[in-house]
Amino acid sequence: MCPPDAVDHSISTRFDSYLEDLQRLVSHPSISATGEGVRDCAELLESLCLEYGFDTTEIVETSGQPAVIAHAYVDGNPATEAPTVLMYGHYDVQPVEDSAWETDPFEPVVREQDGEAFLYGRGTVDNKGQHFAHLCAVQSLRETTGLPTHVTLFLDGEEESGSPHIEEAVRPRVDELTADVSINADGPVHDSGRPTVVLGNRGILLVDIEVRGPKGDLHSGHYGGAVPNPAWELLHLLETMRDGDGRITIDGFYDDVRPITASDRELLEAVEPDPEALVGHLDIGGLQGGPGESFLEQTLYYPSLNINGLESGHIGDGFKTIVPSKASVTIDARLAADQDPDDVYDRIVAHVEDHASDLVSVSISRGPSMDPLRTPADSPYVQPVVAAVTDGWGVDPIVKPASGGSAPYAVFANVLDIPHLTVPYGQPDNNQHSPNEHLSLEHFKRGIHTTTRLLETVRDVHEGSDAL
Ligand SMILES: [Zn+2]
Repeated sequence: MCPPDAVDHSISTRFDSYLEDLQRLVSHPSISATGEGVRDCAELLESLCLEYGFDTTEIVETSGQPAVIAHAYVDGNPATEAPTVLMYGHYDVQPVEDSAWETDPFEPVVREQDGEAFLYGRGTVDNKGQHFAHLCAVQSLRETTGLPTHVTLFLDGEEESGSPHIEEAVRPRVDELTADVSINADGPVHDSGRPTVVLGNRGILLVDIEVRGPKGDLHSGHYGGAVPNPAWELLHLLETMRDGDGRITIDGFYDDVRPITASDRELLEAVEPDPEALVGHLDIGGLQGGPGESFLEQTLYYPSLNINGLESGHIGDGFKTIVPSKASVTIDARLAADQDPDDVYDRIVAHVEDHASDLVSVSISRGPSMDPLRTPADSPYVQPVVAAVTDGWGVDPIVKPASGGSAPYAVFANVLDIPHLTVPYGQPDNNQHSPNEHLSLEHFKRGIHTTTRLLETVRDVHEGSDAL
């Protein structure tokens, strides 16, 4: 048995080669929006997984981009009695068409800033550097104390495109992917620099509504006042979906929303932003009403119905005095825990059918969706994971009951029936999705340390150990 600091020592000794391999990974474009380089990157990851101590790897085909699944078994033996941790990451990256990059996004370079070193390149934070920390942790444990748990790595090739085919990869492999808990690293730590443990995220449903009036644009002088205007009709229809306080009036919209518990409120108190500072920072007149007592209750515990964009008629230079022939809107509904995108879509359709004017024709179509996820704060893994992050990072984390954005992790909770936790490793100011994305090397290293602790913790939970 190696001494307990052998893992940390191994990480420090090998860190330069970990960084070199991360640079190799980042230098492969893998843009799911266009398909550029995605399959080559999946193949590179397959070989990296084997180099880093995984026992098996497979490129799993879907109707879209492939996923990569790899297994690392305790003692190299799947029959060894031990818990399994599923680690999710995504190897696809955002497009880079913006010319504001100071260095080539696919020629990663380390640059110093105020005495701190950062790796610049597309995907350094989102998400290659973060899931690569998981591979490095497996490698360092393998060559020192041994793996404390079986590890299944699931690398999505389409997260930046909404993971539309992730279920195709997961559903037929329930036996292969089954695990005790799933964990992923994505996004930044808290703005204060403290690490974060996130217990879920809101889901999302995109909907398009189109209102069609006259068969072509009409002269507003000859027809205005008599012929129904699709823009007015669309605005009226949207107004019927919300009351004056911002509460959504679609029948049953809030019916399935999971109630807020006392332990949820305790978690919220630790992270609730100062509303006055927020209003000042956003340069708005105030926050709207609606369900939820505070900003975080509104954005994490309740669904929203949000207008993404409206289009109708002429809004360019000059004037074009018309009754437009059509008007359209794209809406996103962010879904709270226990809401089902299919059910919410049916409710929106029923509302539109009941409230649309007979003077125009209204069509509605469904866009992509993702399920919401919330791991209860009293799940047996939450406190041990918090302790592992404290140990790995050197500071105790902020526990966020959910993130307001959307992510595909609910597939693991819903299909595999396991709890999911997110432990981000990125630094707050990282430019993900923007030019000059960069990852702090200190964060990369702490991410590797923390991952080793997370795996050890899951073993301890499994053994009922009180070592923590
Ligand atoms: Zn992203």
